Amino acid sequence: MSDVIKLLPDHVANQIAAGEVVQRPASVVKELLENAIDAKASLIKLIIKDAGKTLIQVIDNGIGMSTTDARLSFERHATSKITTAEDLFQLHTKGFRGEALASIAAIAHVEMNTKQENDEVGTQLIIEGSKVVAQDVTVTPTGTSIAVKNLFFNIPARRNFLKSNQVELRHVIDEFHRVALTHPDVHFEMYQNGTELFSLPPSNQRKRIVNIFGKKTNEKLVPVEEETDVVKISGFVYKPSYAKKSRGEQFFFANHRYIKSPYLHHAVVAAFDGLINTQMYPGYFLFLEVKPETIDINIHPTKTEVKFDDEHSIYAILKSAVKHSLGQFSVAPVLDFERDKNLDTPYTYQQKSAQVPTIEVDASFNPFENDAPATTKYKAPAFKKEKTANWESLYVDTNTTDFSSIEVESEEVVGSLFTDDAVEEKKSVTYQLQKKYIVTTIKSGLVVINQNRAHQRVLYEQFLKSITGANVVSQQLLFPLQLHFSTKDVEAIKNAKEALEHVGFLFDECNAENVVLSGIPMHVNEAQVKEVLDNVSATIQEDVPDSSFSLTDEMAKIMAQSVAVKTGDVLTTEAQEGLVNNLFACKEPSVSPDNKPTFITLTTNDLDKRF
Ligand code: ADP
Ligand code: MG
Repeated sequence: MSDVIKLLPDHVANQIAAGEVVQRPASVVKELLENAIDAKASLIKLIIKDAGKTLIQVIDNGIGMSTTDARLSFERHATSKITTAEDLFQLHTKGFRGEALASIAAIAHVEMNTKQENDEVGTQLIIEGSKVVAQDVTVTPTGTSIAVKNLFFNIPARRNFLKSNQVELRHVIDEFHRVALTHPDVHFEMYQNGTELFSLPPSNQRKRIVNIFGKKTNEKLVPVEEETDVVKISGFVYKPSYAKKSRGEQFFFANHRYIKSPYLHHAVVAAFDGLINTQMYPGYFLFLEVKPETIDINIHPTKTEVKFDDEHSIYAILKSAVKHSLGQFSVAPVLDFERDKNLDTPYTYQQKSAQVPTIEVDASFNPFENDAPATTKYKAPAFKKEKTANWESLYVDTNTTDFSSIEVESEEVVGSLFTDDAVEEKKSVTYQLQKKYIVTTIKSGLVVINQNRAHQRVLYEQFLKSITGANVVSQQLLFPLQLHFSTKDVEAIKNAKEALEHVGFLFDECNAENVVLSGIPMHVNEAQVKEVLDNVSATIQEDVPDSSFSLTDEMAKIMAQSVAVKTGDVLTTEAQEGLVNNLFACKEPSVSPDNKPTFITLTTNDLDKRF
């Protein structure tokens, strides 16, 4: 049989390598930015169009290349950064594999302009799918500009595999952040479709973080510093009260390179143990420095997974450094978002003995004011409640509460005690259980309603109705509401702007870190707006499917979740009744927007069986 093995032509080999190095526009951004850093640039501009799908250009003022080097730089395994295998263990540059430019040129149209400082003129190269189509002498400033156009033009399958512009842009911004955070001494600028997204002048580490994530970030940061023989740690963690429900800002850098490390992430989370709820994510920017020979960066083509020789020590040192910082800045005690605040013993009450109950009456309560829509009233308990008598504490969950100081509602109990049978036939009675459930009677027995989920369902359907209806109702604000967000959050909000306007938000301004609103949706109050928009941004930043229908649906869900009464909210009898009625007027009353049961029924039959 004849021989069958052939060496692959270079352009095919490059395309295969490109599959590993270039997954999406963000991968190109990372490689080009890192090359600019390696070229010792002090000013780096990133320009993209259509989230990088049409154009990614990086312009630097670094050392530039000679004509020969410019040609060679596109060859596979062509690098100026290492010469021997031993160099791999002493890396001081970002790149070293020598395959990024070759890979990129294999799957895009590339134009490079480059000049070294002492040369009069520079070199221009135009390459399409690994083929050099033009090489010229050109007048160009010192440094290098590389423009990558029409990514994956020759691999339609890969091009089709790309996500929406909004998702790809988020990946690009993530890469930009990672490089910009590691090099605060370098001036970075980023433009998308002609608008400036970031302008980051040279600064210290803290300032760089603030410039990227917004002015408000400054107050969130607690410095972390530690120096040992094994590792030097510097950077910041967010105070526990700024932990987020979505991942948010979590950055590890090892020897000035962004890395992913679930293991070290665990160390940081462990340091926050007891300070934040387990479902929350702490924010951090942590820079580790180890001796180059004790870290292996070579285990993954995109170089984000690394191996430390002494992982276990680094884990322990990191955990204790973070813990120490949190302790030193005495940022505990903190808000625990999931905990029922109503069950906390106010500090001033802790040392006191029992008091004689007093009754307080809300003078502003107007019994005739009952024709406003019930949904807007859930939030406002009309009375301050009577201090409990001892027997009533039997109704309180013994696991979570300190008996001596809690307040429970007696109103509803009193109501039901005096309801006679005749009345009960006509009008069902509602009772709030543990500030979480509403119990009410139906003909066949009892219904127990989860107040939070039920309200979510009611609001969700209301929002959907107003979104899909012809005219959106929005509350005009007397004074525009100004809110601060990180640039990334503002990008997300901008992407969702149309959907947000659909549900009743009116934007006066939406740029940089500023969002100014002149109108907000019905059923949302001013104090809730920030939470709604934070949640919108968090959801958009986790992959959101592309179709605009699901975005509006998602928006209705998020708003309903943010605004609905929570477990722990005390509801007046009126509000309870309103909620029950509204729930059963819903199209799909039995489940919350995320498909969890909103109520259960206990029939007299069920009860009979149990006696
Ligand atoms: P690597 O960075 O792994 O060496 P690349 O394919 O990214 O491989 O780049 C190949 C070579 O091209 C680099 O080693 C460097 O010498 C040169 N080069 C690439 N980008 C630049 C730049 N912006 N300025 C100067 N030289 C560059
Ligand atoms: Mg490189």
